[in-house]
Amino acid sequence: MRQYLPALSIILLFCTGGLKAQDDYWQQFVHYKMDITLLPIEHALVGDETILYRNNSPDTLYNIYLHLYPNAYKNSQTIKAQEARKFHRRLLKSEKDGGYIEVESFRIVANSEARNDHFSVTAFEIDDTILKAKLPAPLPPAGEITIQLSFYHKVRKHSSRAGYRGFQYDFGQWYPKVCVYDQDGWHAEPFHLIGEFYGEFGTFDVSISTPFEYIIGATGVVTDGDPGWEMVRVDTSLAEAERREQRKKTQEEIRAQSAEGNLRTVTFHAENVHDFAWVAGPDFLYEYGEWDGIPIHVLYRSSARNRWRGTVIQKSQRALAWLSEKFGRYPYPQLTVANGLLRGGMEYPMLVMNSSQGEKVILHEVGHIYFYGILANNELQEAWLDEGFTSFQTRWYMETRYGKWGFDRKTFLKKANWLQRRRPVKTNRETSRDALLAYMNSGHDEPLSRAAGKYNEPFSYMRNVYTKGAFFYDMLKYVVGDSTFDKICKTYFERWQFKHVNEARFKQVCEDVSGQDLGWFFEQWLHETPTIDYALGKVKKKKVGKGWRTEVPILRKADGRMPVEVQLITAAGDTLIQRWDGADKIGKVVFSTTSKPKKVLLDPGDAILDNSRSNNSGRTIEFMFDYPNMNYIPRDTYLVTWRPSGWYNEVDKFRFGGRLRASQGAARKSEIGLWYGSDSAELDGRVRYSNRVRALGFRTRGRSWHKKWKAALKWTAILLFSTANTCGMHRNTSLWSASTTQNCLATARIMCCVSTTRKATSSFRPGKPATFTKPTFATA
Ligand SMILES: [Zn+2]
Repeated sequence: MRQYLPALSIILLFCTGGLKAQDDYWQQFVHYKMDITLLPIEHALVGDETILYRNNSPDTLYNIYLHLYPNAYKNSQTIKAQEARKFHRRLLKSEKDGGYIEVESFRIVANSEARNDHFSVTAFEIDDTILKAKLPAPLPPAGEITIQLSFYHKVRKHSSRAGYRGFQYDFGQWYPKVCVYDQDGWHAEPFHLIGEFYGEFGTFDVSISTPFEYIIGATGVVTDGDPGWEMVRVDTSLAEAERREQRKKTQEEIRAQSAEGNLRTVTFHAENVHDFAWVAGPDFLYEYGEWDGIPIHVLYRSSARNRWRGTVIQKSQRALAWLSEKFGRYPYPQLTVANGLLRGGMEYPMLVMNSSQGEKVILHEVGHIYFYGILANNELQEAWLDEGFTSFQTRWYMETRYGKWGFDRKTFLKKANWLQRRRPVKTNRETSRDALLAYMNSGHDEPLSRAAGKYNEPFSYMRNVYTKGAFFYDMLKYVVGDSTFDKICKTYFERWQFKHVNEARFKQVCEDVSGQDLGWFFEQWLHETPTIDYALGKVKKKKVGKGWRTEVPILRKADGRMPVEVQLITAAGDTLIQRWDGADKIGKVVFSTTSKPKKVLLDPGDAILDNSRSNNSGRTIEFMFDYPNMNYIPRDTYLVTWRPSGWYNEVDKFRFGGRLRASQGAARKSEIGLWYGSDSAELDGRVRYSNRVRALGFRTRGRSWHKKWKAALKWTAILLFSTANTCGMHRNTSLWSASTTQNCLATARIMCCVSTTRKATSSFRPGKPATFTKPTFATA
């Protein structure tokens, strides 16, 4: 139900190409006033809503569109439910858990004096989650209308981002909300399975009534009434016994009040926001803190008190300090971090709903108040602008705080078991990069800037907007330099806060600040699916006078382009770095040093998503014991692991021996193994090699081995299929389901086996073909 033509927006973009994007910028204004009552007995909300709508566009408007998001959970025929089925998902366990919103009365009044009240309409039509109404009269630029309506919202059992569970209610996308009208026209998009939201900035005055025992947290500041926080405030200075005593007392008080049927009514006011969310529950505990005079409210369920107490306030303070320093001072009068019902976290202006007290989740969601909240992109069209940016800034924060690991390694090691302490641990960045490169090599890579609904499957959306999105900003920082990137962050915030942003607007900021033409970078990483691979050519070293001259040729071996750094280390231990722009097929940098050159390395910081680092320097080998479930894929070295093994079977009785495995990156693996049977006195061997069969166009791997060279060889080739749709992040139906999510996009695999025909197939472990399900086969 998109109301505009993509071609039109391209033409508009060309027309405004020479102008600064912000000069002709406009956005609509909305002011919502709502009176809401929560009826927990029937899991419903009843509300009166008045929306003042001001047309700041240069266009005359004839219709108005509202989102009725809760209707996506009305039955199994909604667009969202249909899309979910396509990916083998279910929105709700059963239809009776569903919810909906009914508009019970509706009136649009033109605000101009002349037309007054007489020009009102009450008619509207609903298509899926979109309400459309004809305006009583054309709304000219600068004109205003008022929409008055009342609604009944049957709340669904918690699903995706909102609903109830137990006595708690999470309200996101819960009220009739005006669709955005911008330079591309109306964004009357129904509620899809994938993708988030887009809203008009404005003011909210929301009065909420609940039974007295409910504690409420919301977007905005309290202007009237009592949200109940003080009654359940956790005094972290008290000992546990005293706290329990205090809690008992307040509970008695609350019980007495609610027994009298008293209601809690509280009004919240918010400005410069494009959405309003709230939570309510009788089980919340409350903590208060501040950062630089800004109140921080934390609400958590009593079951989470040991994990949340004291720490969430501190992490939220650090988040606000970090974001304010890097981008611009947190501009809202409060921050609420609530213990939501969903898994992970969800962002709303001034309010985040988090499932855990984890620092990463807090940074991510509070970061979204900037990237989505303050710098408001259309999340359905360009999710990389919010998910990518906040994933990037979260990692940036975690690395600044915890070093290269990007997580609290000290605490991890304290809690780790014997095996976990021995296995190599990847940094957060390495984990993400491995996952991203595996996806980019899968044959299923899609461009980063794609409308959420256009992705072939949800996993592809996730890998792009979160993982590739975060690396997009990392690489932008690498291309323009750290101090320029810092300026870009601040300028972006300053220029576009409380406005709608998009690719053109962000790119303009980057180009203005850096003075560079970044067209190639945005085009390549947002609209194409490049592969980066630079290789070291034959290095020439020559003694010149008292010093040395080193010529380093660099080859670009794939379609993607990035500036590439060349590092030279001399015998004296000096490190020199030069950068080549990487645009041509072949490039060269020359070093002049006084000391003899010792080592040359391309992309020493591993900054450009180089697909293969085996050709970035001379080959080095790393030996290591093969610990169980080890997921270690070094990018720079050829890894050789060894492990003894033995088992018992009928023919051989005891078999013992071991194997060596060698791998280069995630794709290629070879193995050699030898085992001796105690009773049969026979020696068996196995040689295996596995790799992707990319020629098939799928993400495939071939594997072959032969066993026991004394006897005749048997050849087996197996091709396995599974469709991409059935292996999204939440569905793993294939044989190698024990493996990591990197494998979820596998659509076809070829397996070739060469093995001997022996008197019994005993030399393999019971449960054949166990080799199929081994992690080594699956980690690609
Ligand atoms: Zn997010």
